[in-house]
Amino acid sequence: MSELLSKLEQIVGPNGLITGDDVQSRPADWTGQLICTAEAIVRPATAEELSAVLRLCNECEQPVVAAGGLTGLVKGAAASKEELLISFERMTEIEGIDPIGRTMTVQAGAPLQKVQEAAAEKDLLYAVDLGARGSATIGGNISTNAGGNQVIRYGMTRAHVLGVEAVLADGTILSSMNSLLKNNAGYDLKQLFIGSEGTLGLVTRAVLQLAPLPKSENTAFVGLKDFTSVTDFFQFAGARLGGALTAFEVLWKEHYQLIAIDSKRHTPPLGADHEFYVVIESTGADEEHDDIAFAAALEDTIEKEIVSDAVIASSKAQRNAIWAIREDIEALLGALFPCAVFDVSLPIKEMQTYTENLKTAIKSEWGDAARIIIFGHLGDGNLHIAISVRPWSDETHAQVEELVYEPLAKIGGSISAEHGVGLEKRAYLHLSRRPEEIALMRTLKSTLDPKGILNPGKIFTV
Ligand SMILES: Cc1cc2nc3c(=O)[nH]c(=O)nc-3n(C[C@H](O)[C@H](O)[C@H](O)COP(=O)(O)OP(=O)(O)OC[C@H]3O[C@@H](n4cnc5c(N)ncnc54)[C@H](O)[C@@H]3O)c2cc1C
Repeated sequence: MSELLSKLEQIVGPNGLITGDDVQSRPADWTGQLICTAEAIVRPATAEELSAVLRLCNECEQPVVAAGGLTGLVKGAAASKEELLISFERMTEIEGIDPIGRTMTVQAGAPLQKVQEAAAEKDLLYAVDLGARGSATIGGNISTNAGGNQVIRYGMTRAHVLGVEAVLADGTILSSMNSLLKNNAGYDLKQLFIGSEGTLGLVTRAVLQLAPLPKSENTAFVGLKDFTSVTDFFQFAGARLGGALTAFEVLWKEHYQLIAIDSKRHTPPLGADHEFYVVIESTGADEEHDDIAFAAALEDTIEKEIVSDAVIASSKAQRNAIWAIREDIEALLGALFPCAVFDVSLPIKEMQTYTENLKTAIKSEWGDAARIIIFGHLGDGNLHIAISVRPWSDETHAQVEELVYEPLAKIGGSISAEHGVGLEKRAYLHLSRRPEEIALMRTLKSTLDPKGILNPGKIFTV
């Protein structure tokens, strides 16, 4: 290995290689609880450097793992001591913005928030948004096809990527930096790298599609008496607000109680006597009209007794305080750890039965020693479920996973809505993908990465 490391140092320079104890001073994930266990961290500054690095690694069958902001939640960027971590922290530039074509060209290591802010400076919107925006990178977002808070209106990351530059396992730089909205000239190769979790190629640059920056933003926090009211509210809001409906996030009452009240980290916007809470947001281009339309729609839902209580944010600070409750993952993990946090997709009409059955199954196994907290992007059919049981062990963790994942196949759900598969969900991939699909994934993997050096063992074993 040391011969390889010295060759790598010649490619990326002394500043581009981290070895020895310095590796262990780096965290392995966003919580900072785990330390990096890779053999070394390679930090290329250009696609050309990365190309030379991968060519060398491919020649000597050295496995590598790409790392962005390490905010992934499925152990996708986990690297063992036999692996090299490839970090994109020296490739963080925003290379340019075309305000007429509404595109932005960025390097893979650029944090999502930096991209959002650069777009906003030009009166434009990069419409992917998620709680980890400060650390998550565009390369990581592309590789996981990240979703987030505005999918209901704007779609997932895939919908915002026009072009990609990626380096293949053998060092080939594949420049597919399309900036056209329409380009049907043959296969759309960038799709190979979106959502493939660093297993088919490493993303170095991308062309992102931007949208006009909304002029109005209306946010409300709503309390509802039962799940039927939640779905009625969702349908009503969709019809009344039309394309302006930008977020529809639901918190089960146990989530609200834990985060907004018990944690003492927030000022609760509503009382704790509702069964469900919704964060609803609409954005638009006409501030005066949109504010009135939003308030009127909400008033109607109260009159129709769909919504029990509601508060509309009257300032940016109030809006942020509402979202802080929804996004407070630290308080959640602080209260439940050790626990498992799931990210599942399922038809909205199946959610009530699914969650009730799950609660019953967990409680009948572990009784009061179990806690189940449910929340998520309900408008996208995406729930996050945090479950802690006591005693916690690998065995009980696996038991909990079975209870969460097994029922999904029958109702057309997915084991992963937006976080990907990584190592965490690999054993359950067959519940969401047919054998022919997995076989084709393996064919793609062995064609593009015949020696299996790119993020080996993630998503599936070869
Ligand atoms: C508080 C919090 C909130 C979150 N909310 C959401 C949410 O709402 N929606 C959502 O979808 N996710 C969410 N996530 C998960 C996470 O932020 C996303 O998965 C994000 O896209 C990961 O980006 P990253 O740069 O941190 O990637 P990493 O965690 O570093 O890596 C993730 C995967 O991408 C690969 N990878 C990274 N960079 C590259 C590259 N340049 N080329 C090829 N492969 C690469 C890695 O090998 C790994 O498999 C959240 C996470 C946290 C901690």
